[in-house]
Amino acid sequence: MTNKPKLLIIYTGGTIGMINDPKTGHLISFDFDHIYQQVPELERLQVSLETISFHPPIDSSEMNPVFWTDIAQKVYDNYANYDGFVILHGSDTMAYTASALSFMLQDLSKPVILTGSQLPIGTIRTDGKENLITAIEIAASKNEKGESRIQEVAVYFEFSLFRGNRCSKISANQFEAFSSPNYPKLAEAGIEINFNTEKAFKSESKELKLFTNLNNHVALLKIFPGFSANVYKNLFDINEVKGIIIETFGAGNAPSNDEFRQLISNYIHNGGIILNITQCNSGSVQQGKYETSSFFDKVGVISGKDMTTEAALAKMMYLLGSQDSREEIQKQLAISICGEMS
Ligand code: ASP
Repeated sequence: MTNKPKLLIIYTGGTIGMINDPKTGHLISFDFDHIYQQVPELERLQVSLETISFHPPIDSSEMNPVFWTDIAQKVYDNYANYDGFVILHGSDTMAYTASALSFMLQDLSKPVILTGSQLPIGTIRTDGKENLITAIEIAASKNEKGESRIQEVAVYFEFSLFRGNRCSKISANQFEAFSSPNYPKLAEAGIEINFNTEKAFKSESKELKLFTNLNNHVALLKIFPGFSANVYKNLFDINEVKGIIIETFGAGNAPSNDEFRQLISNYIHNGGIILNITQCNSGSVQQGKYETSSFFDKVGVISGKDMTTEAALAKMMYLLGSQDSREEIQKQLAISICGEMS
């Protein structure tokens, strides 16, 4: 018998486990044994590790709701047998997966930590070793009462732990690839790992709930000065698109273009749902602050406040997939479900 915390690693792919294909020179995914061989330190950690792998592992550009469901189901099925979960994942779409999982796995009392790396684990300057080892330590970490310190979906990258549905990938080449401007870090790793316990999410219920019905009939429209509403008119087709996220300027502003306004009000009138988030990295939508956003309030566009694009898309897919009533979807879009908005 051992008292070591027991963790399940779910290896989905990403740069961390990639190797150079000698024929093409491209980075391709490789199996988990390769990672294990590169990090013999894993043997020395005071944790017991088991692994499930995607076959084949994927570049995270291939991620989609089917894979999200697979990951969420794996966590759910193994939940009782492990103290925490580490998901190895490509960094490109890690924030989308973390956001989706935060809605799919609600009322967690154990950590689900996503990590990966910018350089493959087999390369000398890799960031993968530190990311993997510290993510494991965080997933295994418990307080004096024996409760997991982190009880939510989080992303660990380059010495920082972020709430999964609050972070975004901000750099294609820096090791510090993620940030969470609208929510403080959940932990920082230096000589010790310092947890920001007050900011960690704790749900009232401790009974894990799994939601796997996601509706991907959603659209994302990033407006820009001079955009032609006509170009986007097919997007506002309620038969095809059930929810639209508009990325607007600043505190939620858009041009007062008649054609665009007509598209929006007709779409809502026909049963569509529109969520307004800002293109800015930090700060929040405040509909009605300027004349250029007061129209949104009038026609029933919902303010996504300070949600990231990744969280907004995941939340829209989750609500459209799990709720039948449009009123309920609108109501829940406007409030925080699992810490995704302030
Ligand atoms: N293309 C890779 C992926 O997201 C990049 C990475 O892992 O950092 O799978």
